[in-house]
Amino acid sequence: MKLRLFIFILILSALLYSENVILIITDGMSLDALSIHRKLISGSPVETQFERFTDFALCETTADNTYITDSAAAATALFCGEKTSNGVIGMDKTAEYKVRDGVNLENITEYCSAYGFLSGIVTNTRITHATPAGTYAHIKSRDSEYDIALQLVKTNINLIMGGGQKQFSKDVRYDKRDLFKEMEKKNYTIAKDKKDLKKINIKKNFFGLFGLSHMAYEYDKDTLKEPRLSHMADYALKYLDLKAKKEGKEFFLMIEAGRIDHAAHYHELKEYIFEVFELENLVKRVLDYAESTRTTVIMVSDHATGNPSFVGVRDEEGFSTMEGYFREEKFFYPDKNSLDSLLDNIVIEFVDASKFGGESEDPSYKGDHSGSDVPCFLYSKKYQMSDIVIKNTDILPMVKRQLGRCE
Ligand SMILES: [Zn+2]
Repeated sequence: MKLRLFIFILILSALLYSENVILIITDGMSLDALSIHRKLISGSPVETQFERFTDFALCETTADNTYITDSAAAATALFCGEKTSNGVIGMDKTAEYKVRDGVNLENITEYCSAYGFLSGIVTNTRITHATPAGTYAHIKSRDSEYDIALQLVKTNINLIMGGGQKQFSKDVRYDKRDLFKEMEKKNYTIAKDKKDLKKINIKKNFFGLFGLSHMAYEYDKDTLKEPRLSHMADYALKYLDLKAKKEGKEFFLMIEAGRIDHAAHYHELKEYIFEVFELENLVKRVLDYAESTRTTVIMVSDHATGNPSFVGVRDEEGFSTMEGYFREEKFFYPDKNSLDSLLDNIVIEFVDASKFGGESEDPSYKGDHSGSDVPCFLYSKKYQMSDIVIKNTDILPMVKRQLGRCE
């Protein structure tokens, strides 16, 4: 009898403590990005949306046996809770990139369907790219994106949004399968254009892919056709909120700001700055939602890339570091002209990995991933981070705890 009471209390407390969890992945964003961001908004220190989080830790980012991770091993650590080799997604460390399969690890969306939580994934990269693939796929090579697409079709993730139509199109696929049709047959609403985001039908799951490959940088985006990342997050939150309330469930939502990494690889400073500003818009939307609901938000980078740094100021005297004064100019996102005039007067530099002459992920890249610890933010009305420095494998247990079920 006592045991039954104990189990009843355990189940009741798990239900009472259930929360939605939103996990924002800032792909390749190093800590300095936030410092640069703050200096661009105003000449002097100013508060941003990032200060609305309630706790903060540094997160280490190593892969299994390497100092510097790629996004596949990082996604496996974040979404499956175990370190693996670079290039491998959703398999343990007995796998070898392109060579050998390992043991499949349970990922976060499989966990959600096993325990009755709704799930959603949103990214501005191809949906089959390494980071989003880590939420649903098991494969020894991150490059096999046409096969990763087949694995996505087999899942029952409730909401899927990103780029990368090509991998699902019968005109391009090696097997000529029309994966959009297959998703439609599986009761998914299909969206391929921004105007398809006007309606919400929670009776169906949602599959929206915008653009053939990665979605455009926010700097270059035709916002009449492609939604901004924050607009996708708005849609995802409305959809999951309605569906969760109707079905009496909690949801897990992963949102990846995935193009920060790409801009850093190519040292594209203006594109990088726009991606971080759009991240702040996204964080505002997500925290507004979390504050008024039972929702925990975690925001973490999978690794740092190119580590841009605020170096100094240019004025009539030339370039100076410690003698450079606060600038009067401000940048108003998304005004490209105000960014141009500001960047005439300040110096921000990426780390140039190509000058060391070693092998980079892609020879045309100038910057590569670094071994830096990255920022991890938490918004929770109840919890704090357990340690000052955490591991990338510590994120998944936090997500599971906040969703309200522990193994
Ligand atoms: Zn990268």
